[in-house]
Amino acid sequence: MKLFDNIKSGIDKISVDSLKDKVEAIKETMPKKDKAEKKPEKAAEKAPDKKEEIPEGHIKCPSCGNIIEKRALGHLKICPKCAKLFRMNARDRIRAIADKDSFEEFDVNMESKNPLNFPDYTAKIKSTQEKTGLKDAIKTGKCTIEGRPCVIAVMDSGFMMASLGSVVGEKLTRAFEYATEHKMAVIVFTCSGGARMQEGIISLMQMAKVSAAVAKHSQAGLLYVTVLTDPTYGGVTASYAMLGDIILSEPKAAIGFAGRRVIEGTIKQKLPDEFQTAEFLLEHGFIDSIVEREMLPEVLSRILKLHNIKKAGEM
Ligand SMILES: [Zn+2]
Repeated sequence: MKLFDNIKSGIDKISVDSLKDKVEAIKETMPKKDKAEKKPEKAAEKAPDKKEEIPEGHIKCPSCGNIIEKRALGHLKICPKCAKLFRMNARDRIRAIADKDSFEEFDVNMESKNPLNFPDYTAKIKSTQEKTGLKDAIKTGKCTIEGRPCVIAVMDSGFMMASLGSVVGEKLTRAFEYATEHKMAVIVFTCSGGARMQEGIISLMQMAKVSAAVAKHSQAGLLYVTVLTDPTYGGVTASYAMLGDIILSEPKAAIGFAGRRVIEGTIKQKLPDEFQTAEFLLEHGFIDSIVEREMLPEVLSRILKLHNIKKAGEM
C-alpha cells in the first residue's frame, strides 16, 4: 500500500509539474501584449472615419480611399478607380455566373433551429434573415454556365460572415448528393469566417459531413471546382474549400485557417506582408490559378468543356 502511495504521489507530482509547464507554455503563446498595444492604434485609425461624411448611395473604397457612387461599382462590384473587388452577395454572384434564368435553387427555405439553445441566436438569425433576404449563409442550386450544366453553391459573407453552420453544411451535402446522383459537376464559391460558434460541435461536424459527400462525388469520377473569394477562413478552408479538383481564387482574396494575429502570437514571428493572400498561396502551390472576376464565367465554362460536360444538343 505504501509503495502504491509512493508511486501515486510520484505520478501526481510529475503530472502536476508537467501541467504547470504546459500552462506556462500556453501562457507564453497568448497574444496579450499585442492586444493592449493595438487597441489605441485602432481607435486612432477609426477616428477620422467618423468625421468624413459619405453621401447616401456612396461608399468609400478601402483600397484607394475614393468616395464612389455604389452604382458605379457595376454588377461585378469592382472599384472603377483602382479595380478593387468588393464582396459580392450570393444573389449578385449567381447573376454574374449563371446563364440568365437558368438557376434553379435547392432547399430554398431551410433554416437553422438553434440546436444548442445558444442565447440570442434565434433572434440574431431572424434579424439577419430580414436584413439580407437570405435564410442562411449559402445558396445552392443548378444552372448552366455558357450553356454547360452544373450544380452551383455560393456562400454569402453578409449572413453572419458566411459561418459554417448546420444549414450551410446540410445544403452543401444535398447539393453534392444531387450532383452525384445526376452525374453533374459542382462549383462552390467559398467565403467564410469559419465555423458558426452558436452551433458549437454541430457546426464542426459539418466539415466531415460535407467532405464525405465530396468524397462520394469524387469516387463517382465527377468534377469539383472551388472558387475561393475574400475571405475564406477556418473550418471552410480546413474542409471543402481545399478539396476541389481544381482550386481557383479571385485576386487578392484573403485565404487562411487561423488569422494572421493568432499565428504571429503563437509562433512569435512576424509574417510576410502578402501572407494569406491568393497570390502568396498560388506561389506556394495551394491554389491552381487566380482568375479575374469578369473572366470567371468563361474560365468555368472552359473547365466544364474540358471535362466533357456538354451543352444541350452538343455531340
Ligand atoms: Zn478603389
